[in-house]
Amino acid sequence: MSKKHSKEQKAEPTLDFNSKLKYAAAPESASIANIKKQYDLYINGAWVKPAKGQYFETHSPANEQLLSKVAMAGAEDVDKAVKAARTAYEKVWSKMPAKERAKYIFRIARIIQERARELAVVESLDGGKPIRESRDIDIPLAANHFFYYAGWADKLEYAFPGRKPEPLGVAGQIIPWNFPLLMAAWKIAPALATGNTVVLKPAETTPLTALKLAEIIHDAGLPPGVVNIVTGAGATGAALVNHPDIDKVAFTGSTEVGKIIQKALAGTGKKLTLELGGKAANIIFEDAAIDQAVEGVVNGIFFNQGHVCCAGSRLFVQESVANKVIRKLKDRMESLVVGDPLDKNTDVGAINSAEQLKKIQEYLKIGVNEGAEMFQPSCSIPSKGYFCKPTLFLHTSQSHRIVQEEIFGPVLAIQTFRTVEEVIEKANNTPFGLSAGVWTDKGSRIFTLTTQMKAGVVWANTYNKFDPVSPFGGYKESGFGREGGLHGLLPYLKLA
Ligand code: NAP
Ligand code: MG
Repeated sequence: MSKKHSKEQKAEPTLDFNSKLKYAAAPESASIANIKKQYDLYINGAWVKPAKGQYFETHSPANEQLLSKVAMAGAEDVDKAVKAARTAYEKVWSKMPAKERAKYIFRIARIIQERARELAVVESLDGGKPIRESRDIDIPLAANHFFYYAGWADKLEYAFPGRKPEPLGVAGQIIPWNFPLLMAAWKIAPALATGNTVVLKPAETTPLTALKLAEIIHDAGLPPGVVNIVTGAGATGAALVNHPDIDKVAFTGSTEVGKIIQKALAGTGKKLTLELGGKAANIIFEDAAIDQAVEGVVNGIFFNQGHVCCAGSRLFVQESVANKVIRKLKDRMESLVVGDPLDKNTDVGAINSAEQLKKIQEYLKIGVNEGAEMFQPSCSIPSKGYFCKPTLFLHTSQSHRIVQEEIFGPVLAIQTFRTVEEVIEKANNTPFGLSAGVWTDKGSRIFTLTTQMKAGVVWANTYNKFDPVSPFGGYKESGFGREGGLHGLLPYLKLA
């Protein structure tokens, strides 16, 4: 080892969370993104101009720069896409042997893997999430979903023994902005595996990876009309939901829009799944591995800026370890790197839109006005773009709005508890029921909680872990129906 090298090594800072570590910038290059200046609608296997000729802009929330102009689909465009999907369903896709269908789905998975780096950069540019997340979570999981459901396509009779599974027809699918490519994969992969065709509408602020997916689907040689991507705003989604020739609607988004859709579909006979909001409880017992739990809590609410439907936005700590947990949490928050989503050091990226940032800032004011004590780390945040410091609220109570309502930002409300019964009651005291986390050394306690918590997913001694094999979905106002796993096939089938 050269002298110079050994000197450099000595100068390296030690890992002390209280010291202000400065990492050298490690930006991923945006040059791979290859974003076109303008995107049209992907209908019937071709790029089609919107009937009204309207386009909207999509920006990077990290620096407010224009990334591209994207077609605004109106009712006529949606109608064209649904007609293409219907024809493809009747003439091609429903008649194709299942093992042939599987090959196309498998090919999509492979091309996602080949273009993983490009997709990760585009996801971070368009949505603001840290590149580490899009690279290690969003894109690999999206590919895995296609791989997993490719495997089911020709084995449906084994999934439902004694029954005759049949596709529904045309699925209208609407997705939000927090996991754009992954949500598209969750929707499209099971629909195709079960023999349905698709019209998908991505969120207005994050259309780009869905459009890249359209390119991938095209390159995979899928027959025209099997998957159609119509970009646009809320009205585009509404036109899709209300189209008379849709057999099934799959929606992921807010509880508010979910309720509108449920009302619109009542009595139509269209099948519906809703994946809606959440207000998950993370529960730390005194016997938990505290450092591991603190890391899990940080991961559950601050990474990806709290833009996660299952974000652990409420923390319940057993009273005997509360001071210790809060001290460690604050220390860990001081070490979080907030900033450029494309920098590999970044833990907390940009808030997805100016509108969402405003909503989060309003909740910070509400929290303070309700009498809770607010803590934010001393880090600075970029002056341009939409950023929010990770935030803790102490001394909160069950009636506080910051405890009851979904904020969808990096904001954690902490309460303490003494007994198991007390914490179950508190954790369940919410209109939502999507997910929860339990941190304890006792297996029996984990089982008590998993059976008594009204939450679709309960993680034990870990948080925010996903796999295509395990079903995901909620209770109460978090929606109904499951995505992922064998359960995720059911919403796209009739069982004769
Ligand atoms: P959102 O406002 O409900 O939007 C979701 C999607 O619906 C977007 O594509 C949106 O288009 C579209 N839309 C808006 N109004 C519509 C209407 N009247 N009819 C049909 N479609 C309409 O939700 P968001 O703010 O984008 O996403 C955040 C929410 O999603 C949070 O509540 C979060 O908890 C939830 N979420 C749930 C899950 C889950 O699995 N349970 C997963 C992720 C996110 P525009 O983008 O153009 O407005
Ligand atoms: Mg954007």
